[in-house]
Amino acid sequence: MVKTAIVTGASRGIGREIAKRLATDGFSVVVNYSANAAQADEAIGEIQATGGNAIAVKANISKENEVEQLFEHTITMLGAIDVVVHSAGIMPLSPIIDNDVQLFDNTIATNLRGTFLVLAQAAKHITDGGRIIALSSSVIAKSFPSYGAYIASKAGVEGLVRVLANELRGRNVTVNAVAPGPIATELFLQGKTQEQIEQLSKLAPIERLGEPLDIARVVSFLAGPDGGWVNAQVLRANGGFA
Ligand code: NDP
Repeated sequence: MVKTAIVTGASRGIGREIAKRLATDGFSVVVNYSANAAQADEAIGEIQATGGNAIAVKANISKENEVEQLFEHTITMLGAIDVVVHSAGIMPLSPIIDNDVQLFDNTIATNLRGTFLVLAQAAKHITDGGRIIALSSSVIAKSFPSYGAYIASKAGVEGLVRVLANELRGRNVTVNAVAPGPIATELFLQGKTQEQIEQLSKLAPIERLGEPLDIARVVSFLAGPDGGWVNAQVLRANGGFA
């Protein structure tokens, strides 16, 4: 039987590349997005152009009922859920001293609450032997100024992943996080000067920005037959950034 995967935040960036890679690996893929229907359609088009099978499902992952519907709709359309990759996320930056509570709340609602909601539905619906993978970030180790809300949210993601791995004992389900370093997507590039981008891209000993495909390959490993013995881990895929 064809295996199925949900990829949240797959209309663009890292999530899109993960969806494309999993489709190439043979999964039927749900491309989740929150706002950008046109870009989600583009992702579906790219997958279908290479012979893959994918559908787009809109759901804001910070909303409990929308996450429930995302999973229910997937089961109705595809029959089962074998892999869940939670890539949707945001990275607004502000120094703590500015006391931007709204930015903090939005970041926590999307990145941490969203992860909690997605992991809860994944735990409930995933088939035995399935794989759950959430996106964290290697920037946790850097503690850069202005990254407070984002780093707090991703530290929470890493905690949730390890707890869920223990809760799913006996079902042969693995739960891991992938923590990229800087990747050339809108989330990273937006609001940065060329100089900042060049500086950050030189921090890793490999001396380049990551590409979405660098991360899609790691997710493909964790979701595929060779990744089954990796569980409750945070895989820092970052070219040596931290
Ligand atoms: P992008 O900004 O390129 O893409 C974000 C994706 O998430 C889009 O598909 C967007 O959908 C979706 N999304 C945003 N908010 C929601 C929401 N509330 N509900 C559902 N979907 C939502 O980000 P990246 O691809 O760069 O980031 C992907 C993940 O990787 C994030 O978790 C990020 O924190 C993490 N990461 C990224 C790094 C980087 O340097 N890029 C480094 C380390 C970690 P829509 O198009 O509809 O808005």
